Amino acid sequence: MRKIMDFASLKRIKFKILQCGTTRTKMLNLSWRKIVRHFSNYVRIVEVGPRDGLQNESVIVPTSTKISFINKLSETGLKTIEATSFVSPQWLPQMGDNKEVFEGINIKPGISYPVLVPNLQGLHQALDVGVQEVAIFGAASEAFSRKNINCSIAKSIERFSLITEQAAQRNIRVRAYISCIVGCPYEGDVKPSVVASLAASMLELGCYEVSLGDTIGVGTPKKIRAVLNELKTLSPSGTFSEFALHCHDTFGQALTNIYSSLDFGIRIFDSSVAGLGGCPYAAGASGNVATEDLLYFLNGQGLESGVDLKKVIDVGDYISTQIGRENKSKVGTAILRKEKHTRVKN
Ligand SMILES: [Zn+2]
Repeated sequence: MRKIMDFASLKRIKFKILQCGTTRTKMLNLSWRKIVRHFSNYVRIVEVGPRDGLQNESVIVPTSTKISFINKLSETGLKTIEATSFVSPQWLPQMGDNKEVFEGINIKPGISYPVLVPNLQGLHQALDVGVQEVAIFGAASEAFSRKNINCSIAKSIERFSLITEQAAQRNIRVRAYISCIVGCPYEGDVKPSVVASLAASMLELGCYEVSLGDTIGVGTPKKIRAVLNELKTLSPSGTFSEFALHCHDTFGQALTNIYSSLDFGIRIFDSSVAGLGGCPYAAGASGNVATEDLLYFLNGQGLESGVDLKKVIDVGDYISTQIGRENKSKVGTAILRKEKHTRVKN
């Protein structure tokens, strides 16, 4: 695998380049600009714990806990926190208090709080409470699309167009999700060309970002790379700035997959604090990659996110305690255990 270079290493390379002759310097400076553009040092984390995480937990979390959970997340440096979902409570009872949650949180300037909307009705309900950003969701598998949103992929694109059109008229940003980018619980392997075709439609509809979801966590670096290779032509800047990666850790491959995507220039990752959630198609499976584990990894790679690891660990501890669930972040539990040990010793 190609080595990921951090910013400091690139600076050292540039210094060496500048020690060479003028013509060579000019030539290499060009490639330096190219490299810097490709290997941005900043990563944006999209915290999906309050929505993707909690909707897949078996317990129904009290509204006041959700509100204080989101408010605590807002103090960690995160710039995007997915707050809730405006899917019908018949389908998703865990998110039935969407209106109360959104109206109850402290909207902090500089932070985006997108909500999931499945249709125009959901969009209107979200707009009524002042939502500024919504997320739509489709799947790269026909069977999953029919089971999850009750229509074919082609029909789902028609539905999305109604949402994106009205959102554009009101200056509402739209993020898109594609589920099952490498594997589907009903169809098995998913073709990268299907992912690319759906992603192209979503970008054409005006979505500012497409989050590529390994919904059941079956991806491996080889499979993720195959999808990203197929998407290359959809990123005119060549930096993949239009794409995010959304990894579930069902088979423990999430961080490996994220690592492999850095080479392509992916710099937006979805994660859930404490690894909240699960997989409705694999009982007892892990949820999203834990934000704490992702942050520890990014920090170790010299990548910046502006998110405070210690604060995120404390929020992970808070929500795990509140819902009486094991904290599934390895980094979170290791550091909390160490702190407890130090306190006992003192
Ligand atoms: Zn997910």
